[in-house]
Amino acid sequence: MQVLPLADDHGRVATDLRVSLTDKCNLRCTYCMPAEGLDWMPTDQQLSDDEVVRLVGVAARHLGVREVRFTGGEPLVRRGIVDIVGRVKAADPTLELSITTNALGLSRTAGALAEAGLDRVNVSLDTVRRDTFAEITRRDRLDDVVAGLAAAQEAGLGPVKVNAVLMRGVNDDQAPELLRWCLDRGYQLRFIEQMPLDAQHGWSRDGMVTADEIFGWLAAEFDLAPAGEPRGSAPAELFAVDGGPATVGVIASVTRPFCGDCDRVRLTADGQVRTCLFARHESDLRTALRAGATDEEIARRWAAAMRTKAPGHGIDDPSFLQPARPMSAIGG
Ligand code: SAM
Ligand code: SF4
Repeated sequence: MQVLPLADDHGRVATDLRVSLTDKCNLRCTYCMPAEGLDWMPTDQQLSDDEVVRLVGVAARHLGVREVRFTGGEPLVRRGIVDIVGRVKAADPTLELSITTNALGLSRTAGALAEAGLDRVNVSLDTVRRDTFAEITRRDRLDDVVAGLAAAQEAGLGPVKVNAVLMRGVNDDQAPELLRWCLDRGYQLRFIEQMPLDAQHGWSRDGMVTADEIFGWLAAEFDLAPAGEPRGSAPAELFAVDGGPATVGVIASVTRPFCGDCDRVRLTADGQVRTCLFARHESDLRTALRAGATDEEIARRWAAAMRTKAPGHGIDDPSFLQPARPMSAIGG
């Protein structure tokens, strides 16, 4: 079978696959889920390790996917993660593999993940103050994250990237402090605008901290110059800090959407293809898989699902509706 590109009707081709390994998490970030957690996905609905490996293999062999990022929920709470990474890499050593993680437990698993073939990590960290960390994540685990970051660096899972979300009145006074902390350790920091994907539907456009505000706070303390590379399909606008080579990124997902250049496709932990974080429709691959579909049949279904990708997320449209699944169940 020839490669069927994951093309949509707006001229984009997806080559970057985000795979959610679980909707469960060991933190409770206020912008993501409520204190009591959520009703987790029943185990029988979740793809098995074999099913994940097979679907990622189909995407790589038949659909032109070149990068795979494992996410969740918290991907490190999935018991089989090292094995999954190892099998995916062994099947196609040219695939670039990364994870987005809160880094709890990463100090124990970074070495094994690197050995299995993981290339990079993105760690989510919104503050380096213990009290603010506990306020945002509702857990007192800052030390574990710090240790996880160091272990990732040590294991060669770099460049280690740190993703941060700023919330008004909570950590919006800490952007320069967080940047300085990351620069001192050689981590690449990227700020991401908060999006309407929380399970509690607490997001508001007016309350959201914008990329322009973040840039202003950073520019007051650092010399920031656009970092040469064109943005392309990478969502972060990158700035060289104090003459470089260190950079900081600002991802204006809401105020300057990059949907026109999007090259992503998502697979949920229960085997649904999502063309966008904000898609209101999913395409079921798990049922076909469990009914005995061949790799070629699955590839054709996946490619057909992709055609329907919407041109943009439409957050600013009056008709915008938040998707039924929260970020933690889609795979952020
Ligand atoms: N648990 C892992 C973690 O936190 O890195 C992976 C999943 S988490 C849903 C992926 C990313 O989404 C994190 O960087 C997190 O900060 C971000 N995120 C969660 N809810 C968000 C929201 N409402 N707006 C913007 N980013 C959000
Ligand atoms: Fe968990 Fe990540 Fe959501 Fe925080 S952002 S609650 S770490 S899934």
